Amino acid sequence: MKRLVPLIMALLLLSACTKPIHKSHKSMYCMDTVMDLQIWSTDPDGDAQAIRDLLMDLEATWDPASSTSAIAELDRGGDGLTPEQKELIGRIEALSQRTGGAFDPTLYAVTEAWGFPTDSYCVPTPEQLEDALAMDRWDLGAAMKGYAGMCCVEKLSQLGSDRALLDLGGNIQTFGSKRDGSAWMIGIRSPEGDDTIGTVAVHGTMSVITSGDYQRYFEVDGKRYSHILDPKTGYPADSGISSVTVISRDGLVADVMSTALFVMGLEEATRLWQESDDFEAVFLLTTGEVYATEGVTLTGCDHEVIHREK
Ligand code: AMP
Ligand code: MG
Repeated sequence: MKRLVPLIMALLLLSACTKPIHKSHKSMYCMDTVMDLQIWSTDPDGDAQAIRDLLMDLEATWDPASSTSAIAELDRGGDGLTPEQKELIGRIEALSQRTGGAFDPTLYAVTEAWGFPTDSYCVPTPEQLEDALAMDRWDLGAAMKGYAGMCCVEKLSQLGSDRALLDLGGNIQTFGSKRDGSAWMIGIRSPEGDDTIGTVAVHGTMSVITSGDYQRYFEVDGKRYSHILDPKTGYPADSGISSVTVISRDGLVADVMSTALFVMGLEEATRLWQESDDFEAVFLLTTGEVYATEGVTLTGCDHEVIHREK
């Protein structure tokens, strides 16, 4: 009996330490979109609240329409940014260079000329576009949800959450692994509606981010003007792509690349992928054809696999 006492004590201690894991499932409106947060943790509501606060904070900090945001500070030259913010801008500038400028974080005046930030759409004149392109006003809308996903991952790690599936307006961030070791299955939305064209399987902590011409657009005389712009012309990118989904361990890479590859078109995007080792991609063309780089596990649709050149 004496020998059993330490064993019983150890078992009692262990059961006191291992609190059960529960799930929280919450929605919120942030960064101009509906977000859906699923978090598994010993304190899921507390963790969800922390993630909610973090996202609202990021939205306010990087709001291009606010005169007190870090974006406004960048437009004034950026001297007043915190070291952390300067580091983020440095990373974004380096990624933009990698894309040959297809990702341009200074297009805010151009998106305003098209009326996208206020939903008051109009087709600008070539002169208006030229003036807007020359303005170089900052807008991190094409990178912020990916960056936010990374910030959420850091916070969930600090909180000791078990796992999470965060849908930041169609930009998916997974955290941790499912209990049974199976993959997170992420649907790629069909441009025609809410159904999916296929499913991407990812393991562990990953960002799966989609840029699509159907996400925000307006039509005049039967012509569609989408929100993803070609920085060379200021006009909506017309590259033959309907959507690009990028999968990366790094949310910022995934978000920057999804926008850039959309602008570049399949051929140029393939070349950039072949030179890179930090992302994979699925391309849905306007013809309906689907292409996926060889590192993607894509099911549910016929597709061509893009290989690395030998
Ligand atoms: P995303 O959905 O990540 O592709 O981001 C699209 C948003 O980024 C647009 O609504 C614009 O605010 C902005 N944007 C449009 N074109 C570009 C571009 N070529 N580079 C960077 N940001 C862009
Ligand atoms: Mg993007």
